[in-house]
Amino acid sequence: EHDELRLFFQPKIEFKTGRVTGAEVLLRWQHPTRGLLNPVDFIPFAEQTGFIRRLTRWTLDHAIAQGALWLAAGKALVSEMNFGCSGDISADDSGDVRLDSRIASMLGRHQLPPGLLTLELTESGFIEDPTRALRMLDAIAALGVSLSIDDFGTGYSSLSQLVRMPVHEMKIDRSFVQGLESDPEFAPVVRYAVDMGHGLGLKVVAEGIETEAAAARLRDFGCDIGQGYLYAKPMPLGAFENWLEGRDRVPVIAIPVDFKTEELADTVSLAIY
Ligand code: C2E
Ligand code: CA
Repeated sequence: EHDELRLFFQPKIEFKTGRVTGAEVLLRWQHPTRGLLNPVDFIPFAEQTGFIRRLTRWTLDHAIAQGALWLAAGKALVSEMNFGCSGDISADDSGDVRLDSRIASMLGRHQLPPGLLTLELTESGFIEDPTRALRMLDAIAALGVSLSIDDFGTGYSSLSQLVRMPVHEMKIDRSFVQGLESDPEFAPVVRYAVDMGHGLGLKVVAEGIETEAAAARLRDFGCDIGQGYLYAKPMPLGAFENWLEGRDRVPVIAIPVDFKTEELADTVSLAIY
């Protein structure tokens, strides 16, 4: 009502190519007296009071509208928008409008192809009524929208439930990524999580990457996509668009080497990403 909510964007980067595969949309509250608030300062309260549903609708609608604008402007770089969706996913949304029909109508209204949208789900959405939540996920997936398990490794949902969920992506929580640097016991756990994700046919994303060392290990483990301060912090729209453009002009790492002859190809271009 007071136009105080803002969307921030954090890029997701494919390890193999250095390509930006998409962006995670993160909510901020530009509070008139307290300044810019992070979601931890207000989302738990919104969840407790049920206000989260209106917040989710607002964020989804604005994120989808933004995705459609990028698409119309030919900014194919951002081929996918990740959007966090917490709270009880199965709960009916004010009266009889279900989340899946709401999403379908938002996609239709803004003309965004469903395949460009990913919803990130935390396990808390499943605790209350897993069977109903699963039905809702099936309905959302049937629209062509992708689903992602957020903060993987921090919840308590059973692996058998994971097998039944129509998900496309798994995000390894940043506590594991950061643990990789400080504690050798984390390495086999992260490696196992990547292998398990691949075994289930999922893309595996690591979040909270802050150092090149962590990125290198994740690449070694075969992790597909990285996200974290090493690449970029979450940014407001203008800064994110500038970041994308600046990056566009930089050649993505390309060191063509013939490994058999150990000769460098004629042109060597090197870029920082
Ligand atoms: P999350 O999904 O685990 O989001 C990633 C959080 O990690 C973001 O915090 C991001 O700023 C932070 N982060 C990213 N890279 C790094 C890094 O390299 N190091 C460190 N230390 N942190 C990093 P943020 O934006 O404060 O979001 C916190 C949580 O709030 C998110 O956790 C997400 O669960 C929730 N959230 C954000 N936006 C929304 C939203 O629109 N709706 C709902 N329901 N939840 C949201
Ligand atoms: Ca997330």
